[in-house]
Amino acid sequence: MTTDFHQVAKALSFETRAFIDGKYVNAASGKTFATVNPATGRELAQVASCADEDVDRAVSAARRAFEAGSWSRMAPRERKKILLKFADLIEANLGELALLETLDCGKPISDSNEVDLPDTIETLRWHAEAIDKLYDQMSPAPHNVVSMLVREPIGVVAGVIPWNFPLFMAAWKMAPALAGGNSLILKPAELTSLSLLRLAELAADAGIPDGVFNVVPGLGEEAGRAIGLHRGIDCVSFTGSGEVGRYFLQYSAESNMKRIVLECGGKSPAIVMPDVKDLAPVVENIATGILFCQGENCSAGSRLLVHRSIADKLLEQLKPVFAQWKVGDPLALDTRIGALIEQPHLQKVLGLIERGKAEGGKVTFGGKQALVESGGWFVEPTIVENVRNDMAIAREEIFGPVLSVIPFDSEEEAVRLANDTNYGLAASLYTEDLNTAHRIAKAIRAGTVSVNCYSEGDYAVPFGGYKESGFGGKDKGLAAHEQYTEQKAIWIQLG
Ligand code: NDP
Repeated sequence: MTTDFHQVAKALSFETRAFIDGKYVNAASGKTFATVNPATGRELAQVASCADEDVDRAVSAARRAFEAGSWSRMAPRERKKILLKFADLIEANLGELALLETLDCGKPISDSNEVDLPDTIETLRWHAEAIDKLYDQMSPAPHNVVSMLVREPIGVVAGVIPWNFPLFMAAWKMAPALAGGNSLILKPAELTSLSLLRLAELAADAGIPDGVFNVVPGLGEEAGRAIGLHRGIDCVSFTGSGEVGRYFLQYSAESNMKRIVLECGGKSPAIVMPDVKDLAPVVENIATGILFCQGENCSAGSRLLVHRSIADKLLEQLKPVFAQWKVGDPLALDTRIGALIEQPHLQKVLGLIERGKAEGGKVTFGGKQALVESGGWFVEPTIVENVRNDMAIAREEIFGPVLSVIPFDSEEEAVRLANDTNYGLAASLYTEDLNTAHRIAKAIRAGTVSVNCYSEGDYAVPFGGYKESGFGGKDKGLAAHEQYTEQKAIWIQLG
């Protein structure tokens, strides 16, 4: 395989039309919007800008397919075969899809190749494999009654997808939704439509019937809003900001009370207890936790809570590790930190670093824009010390490679600081004491607590947040199947 990704990228063609009812189509209005390469600031393509009429066409096609039963009533083992073929086709086209992801998102090609694509494929396979092993239930009932509790697909599911992991986040939603027999409409983030548009063709090639898999690219206020308010959609599964998550709750209330599942980011702590003797693996995990995907990661470990007695030693070991995270051309194999998604986001990240300084924080590593000459939007990996938990930099989701360091003096204080946030998505904890590990893991109000590692768990582990990080359900694991199904009680009186 060639590793001259620039050369391959030059030969790449982009599918930019919506995919509705098994066909690529332009937006009804004929309108388009630009999608830009964050590493160069240059336009990649013009993408169909869908709005109400297009969403309406997609919903009609999805509903028609659902009612026809070509997918919704297919035997689970047959759906499984098609979804496994879909996963195989993604694998066969891994290089192209990874390249699209990197060009459109600015993330390092090694991440796209080794994380985003493999995880997308494995997520699809896991849910496909699960679907013919899920049993319904019977409830305790009198002798002359058969009381069945059966799960049925909810109908038309929409996935509203963020820009940080377009394929992977779509997989978290489409895999359980499709496995359960639903029809699906995906709306990519306007900044990153290309990979999902290409994916649609592979879904059709795998044998997913027309109307079951649709992709409507468009602006949030147009295509996203139309999805939220459409009475023909039964469930919206969303990942993104809390602000837009709240809109979806409103849209639901204003329309058909569709089910809403939200994953809305975090401000996750990494807690280092004083008993840790070997800090080498800890600093590696802390760096990965905040620097992976340029920090544009909902479960990024953005607050380092470290016991005061070991803070200096830990930071001394952490800085050389940060230095190894090379900021560079996303198409170069040794790049570990690519470009931030867009200019306004770069300004937001730099603005929060400045605000951190103004509020008393001290930047002790990085802190500046990088590779300005590229035309892209790069930021150095950054450490801010002297941070208090009430500073903006410790409270707002920065979504950049910026670590805030907050020392603590006792376990109680560590737990209090960890929980002193509106979010509750994830936390990491480093200790060599089993009792401490269990005690703190129980005390933290977050959906995932990883101990002595930075992790969201694998495909089998439900992922979702407490407090303002999540609402209405979970991604991953069998828990994700529940939100895309309705449970029906059938009570049969025997004659
Ligand atoms: P948004 O929440 O704005 O976008 C997420 C999705 O919602 C996109 O598909 C977007 O479409 C859509 N959307 C936007 N506005 C509306 C609307 N009015 N009605 C319906 N749908 C809408 O996130 P951003 O991409 O703007 O990022 C902003 C911040 O959100 C980030 O800085 C980060 O803090 C957080 N975020 C968190 C993520 C997570 O993983 N939890 C992922 C991404 C962002 P469009 O792209 O067209 O606007």
